[in-house]
Amino acid sequence: MIPKIEQASSQDIKRFQEEKLKDLLQYLNKNSPYYQGIFKKHHIDVNTINSLEDLAKIPTTTKDQLQQYNNDFLCVEKNKIIDYVTTSGTLGDPVTFALTDNDLNRLAYNEAISFACSGVTENDVMQLMTTIDRRFMAGLAYFLGARKLGAGIIRVGAGIPELQWDSILKFKPTYLIAVPSFLLKLIEYAKQHDIDLKTSGVKGAICIGEPLRNQDFSLNTLAEKITSQWNIKLFSTYASTEMNTAFNECEKQQGGHHHPELIIAEILDENDQAVPANHVGELTITTLGVEGMPLLRFKTGDMVQAHTEACGCGRNTMRLGPVVGRKKQMIKYKGTTLYPPAMDNILNDFNEVECYIIEISNNNIGTDEICIKIATKTPSDKLLSRIKDHFRAKLRVSPKIEIHDKKVIQKLQFPIMSRKPVMVIDNRKTDS
Ligand SMILES: [Zn+2]
Repeated sequence: MIPKIEQASSQDIKRFQEEKLKDLLQYLNKNSPYYQGIFKKHHIDVNTINSLEDLAKIPTTTKDQLQQYNNDFLCVEKNKIIDYVTTSGTLGDPVTFALTDNDLNRLAYNEAISFACSGVTENDVMQLMTTIDRRFMAGLAYFLGARKLGAGIIRVGAGIPELQWDSILKFKPTYLIAVPSFLLKLIEYAKQHDIDLKTSGVKGAICIGEPLRNQDFSLNTLAEKITSQWNIKLFSTYASTEMNTAFNECEKQQGGHHHPELIIAEILDENDQAVPANHVGELTITTLGVEGMPLLRFKTGDMVQAHTEACGCGRNTMRLGPVVGRKKQMIKYKGTTLYPPAMDNILNDFNEVECYIIEISNNNIGTDEICIKIATKTPSDKLLSRIKDHFRAKLRVSPKIEIHDKKVIQKLQFPIMSRKPVMVIDNRKTDS
C-alpha cells in the first residue's frame, strides 16, 4: 500500500505539491481570518505563489501566534467541527485544534499509510498503549488508521502492565503502539511473572514520544536495552497535533517518510531560509488537505535533518532523521551547543538511574547551567562521578548531578493535567 505519488520522481512530487499548495492558498484566502490578515498586512497576492520556492515570500507562523490568535486560525463554522483536541502551548494555555469530518478522514488515511509504511498490514492486530481520550489526537488517529487499514486494534490505554500482558496473551497482537520506555516496564513485568517474551507473538512496536535512534540511525541506548531483551522490531514515528500528519519509518529504518499528499516540509535556519543539504534546521510545515485549522509555514520548534537519497523501500520521498532536540531547549554550555535528547542517551546508559529530570537555568553571567536530578536505589559518590565522567567523555560537558527521592522526581515529571512525562524543566529567562 504505497501511494503512487510516493514512488514518483522528486520533480513530480514537487509539482504535485505545488498544485496542492495553490489550492491551500485559495482556501486560506477565503476562509482563514488569521491568514487573510497576514496576506493583507504583507501585501501578498496568493495568485503569485506558484512554486515551493515562492513559499519564502510568506512569513512563517510561530507557536506563539497560534496560541495568541487561536480562534482566527479556524476556517469553518462551529457546526462543522466534530472533534476537539488540544496541545500544550508555549505561553501557558493549551492551544485548541478543531477537526471536521473530512479532517478525521484525512487523519485516518494519514495513519493508515503510515502504519503500512512501517509494515503493518490488514492481517495484523495492534495493541494501543496510549490514551485515546483526554483531548489527545494521536490515540484517536491510531484507532482510525487501524480501522482504515483493516488491521485489528486493542485499546488498552496507557500504563497497567498487568492488563497489557493479559491482552497480549489473550488476543495475540503482532504490533504494539507504545512509548519505548514503557516497553522496558513490560519486559520487567514479564520477567517477574514468568511470561515468556519469545512466545509473545509480538513482531514489532510503533514507538512514540521518545527517540529510538542516533543521528546515524543506529539504535540508541534505550532502544538497545529493549531489543537485547525482547526480539521485536522498533519503528520510530514523528508526528504532532499541529501537523495532523505522521512521519513513520519504513522497514529500512532510515528516517520517517514524508507523505507529499499531506504536508509540505521545509527545514529552515534562524532567518527562515532553507538550510543547505544535510544540515540541521527547524522543521517548518504547511498542511495539505486540512479543513478545520490548516497551517501555512508553521515552525514546529523541532530541529531535524532531512535525508533525500533514495530509500530501499521504493518510496522516493524525503525522510526526517531523529529529532536532534527542541529549538527552545538548545543549551549553550561553555562553548558547546547541545539538546536534552543527547543527555537522555547518556543517562539511559546507567541501569542504576531509576528516573531523572533535567533542569536548565541561566546563571548571573548569562550562560546556561544544567542540573540533573536522579533517583537511584544505590546512591554513592562513585555513581555520581561515573555519570559525570560519562558526560565529559561523550558530550564534553559536566552538569551538576543531584540525587533525590524517587517520589520527588516523579512529582516533577507528572504535573497535574500532563499527558506525557516532563523530562526537561527549563527555568531560563528568555529575552526573545
Ligand atoms: Zn523507505
